[in-house]
Amino acid sequence: MLKIYAIGGYSQIGKNMTAVQYNDEIIVLDCGFWMEKIMSYEGEENAASLPVEALYQYEIVPDDRQFYKNHGKQVKAIFSTHAHLDHCAAIPALAGKYKCPVIATPFTIEVIKKLASERKEALPRLIKMKAGNMYEVSKNINVEFIHVTHSTIQTVIIAVHTPDGIIVYANDWRFDENPIIEKRTDYARLKKLKKKGVLALITDSTRIEDESKTFSESTVRSMFLDILPGVDTKENLLITTTFASHIERIKTILDIAKKINRKPVILGTSMSNYIRSAEKIGVVNFSKEAMIVRGEKNINRVMRRINKNRKDYLIICTGNQGEPNAVLTRISRNEFELNLLPKDAVIFSSKTIPSPINIAQRAELERKLKNKGVRIITDVHVSGHAGREDQREMIELLKPKHYIPTHGGMVKLASGVNLASEEGYELGKTSHILQDGQSIVLVK
Ligand SMILES: [Zn+2]
Repeated sequence: MLKIYAIGGYSQIGKNMTAVQYNDEIIVLDCGFWMEKIMSYEGEENAASLPVEALYQYEIVPDDRQFYKNHGKQVKAIFSTHAHLDHCAAIPALAGKYKCPVIATPFTIEVIKKLASERKEALPRLIKMKAGNMYEVSKNINVEFIHVTHSTIQTVIIAVHTPDGIIVYANDWRFDENPIIEKRTDYARLKKLKKKGVLALITDSTRIEDESKTFSESTVRSMFLDILPGVDTKENLLITTTFASHIERIKTILDIAKKINRKPVILGTSMSNYIRSAEKIGVVNFSKEAMIVRGEKNINRVMRRINKNRKDYLIICTGNQGEPNAVLTRISRNEFELNLLPKDAVIFSSKTIPSPINIAQRAELERKLKNKGVRIITDVHVSGHAGREDQREMIELLKPKHYIPTHGGMVKLASGVNLASEEGYELGKTSHILQDGQSIVLVK
């Protein structure tokens, strides 16, 4: 018997959590936050330390209470695909009660450990496993990590091998032919899985509606090079904001700083936390290339220095979504000893997440910047998620018997099964829409 449980991530973008059952054994895949709810609660750092009951109440974590009541004792292991908070941040709060190990790549484990340091719960045993390896859960379930490109490092596709067939869980990914730090996706391994026969593909549908292919991370460098002659003037301040976990993007910006002879200064706690995790596992050494500053006192000291020598620095910070506590938002509110002046420039190496609260907060940030005469350049960015044509390629690469879209609400999941129908799948028979709390038996 093979059954899939959609616990979270099937009714919204966020709080991903899926379970796969073979006979009486179950494994859990991902356990993340719903970021939009955190934004509407108060700000991510404080939300991470909320009591478990409040996390459920505010819908920040997947509601696994019924699943746990019925099946908690059958769960043998929890796996996480990558270090984004909507895939791993609920692990410190929810995983302990399952009394089983948590397995993820070294970078993801470092991020989970950091998140767990803000909580009281005892963490389960954390096991690091690199892409290309297999974890034997039991004699009937083996779990394999396959390297895939995404917008944070060490992301994997998870293949669950059971006697009833292979389940491929690809939640989040993109196909990047020219990544900055990492290797290309392990296409050879995916092709081998197709030969063996894939029973089901469960796939990220965040960007399924974009009738395109997602472009490579390396194209962002060209975008920066296009912009800089116009904004890198003699006396102005230059600020770039991006996502804290986007290690490859930060690398691109560091290279750009070198090219224009400005000293890169990375400001803020969450960005320096992710960089510390990446440095700890030996993937990057940004501390050599940039000043990385955290803590109110230190940030203010550096801000004073930057304020006097404005053309010498390139500030890299968070705040691209207008988050109230992020460095850029605080700069816009004059909370540091750094003056924003006309002709200063802010480059948004990001896209606004299309939720009402993000849109409103970002608009408010832009208004404040514009009022000061600051130039704004937006969308210097490529997405970390697969477009519709990448999704088609994934279906063709794996030729799964069943197609199950995840990581999106009903509209995105419907768009996924629509694509699957173009590829010969039939809704209700070989392609399936699940909502949070539902399950499906694929093999009786
Ligand atoms: Zn992701």
